[in-house]
Order: sequence, then structure tokens, then C-alpha cells
Amino acid sequence: MNTDHERIRKLLPLIAAGVEPEPPHLAECAGCRTELESWREAAHLLRTQPPIAAPPGLALRTRMAVAEARLQRENRWLTGLAVMLGVSAWLLFLATAWLIHRTSGTSIWSACLMASVLGSLTSLMAAGVVAAHRRGKETL
Ligand SMILES: [Zn+2]
Repeated sequence: MNTDHERIRKLLPLIAAGVEPEPPHLAECAGCRTELESWREAAHLLRTQPPIAAPPGLALRTRMAVAEARLQRENRWLTGLAVMLGVSAWLLFLATAWLIHRTSGTSIWSACLMASVLGSLTSLMAAGVVAAHRRGKETL
């Protein structure tokens, strides 16, 4: 009975709002009936109040906050990608220099220079491809 009383008390706001049906416990418990009446008065007051208008600019501020959060998430992803590409470029540079050194028998410093030249040419070609792709997008 006591646990039923506690369970009903948690449901009183929903009963007052008409969402939950009245349980038989209310017929035998004056305390719950009194509390239910308080909840009904509160529900009636809330229903009879004029609607509260949202502050001006709330929708715009909310959209801006969502866009900013999305941008920060994308920036974190791009930063991670840039770090990964930088590390990969260095590993590729070292592997290329080592391969040039091993296969051609040149000194490691000459091999590094050759790898730098090859890397620079590859970067220029990649930048050209990206620029051409952007120009193609802009003309569409
Ligand atoms: Zn009760």
C-alpha cells in the first residue's frame, strides 16, 4: 500500500494533466487527493496563461550556434587530416630519400635533396590539379 502511495504521487502531475487515468488509490487516500488538487490548480493556471513569446532573434542565434558548432567539428576534422597528411609526407620523404640513397649509391644528403625536389614537383602538380578543379567548379 505504501509503495502504491509513492508510485501514485509520482503520477499526480500526469493525472492532473489528464494524461494518466485516476487510480483507485485516490478514493481511499486524502493526502494524494489534496496533492492532486494542487496539481490540477497549477495545470489550470498554466493552461490559462497567455503564451510566452520567444525572445527576438532566438531562432537566428540558435541557427548560428548550430552552424558554429558544425564548423568547429569540421575544423577539428580538417586539423586531424592536416596532421596526418604532414606526418605521411615526412614519412614518404624519408622513405624516398632512403630509397634514392640505397639504389643510386649517392650520399644521404644528395638523396634528401632529390627527394625534396621530387616532393616539391608532386606538390606543385597536386596544387595545380586542385586549382583546376576549383576553376571548374566556379564555372559551373
Ligand atoms: Zn496516497
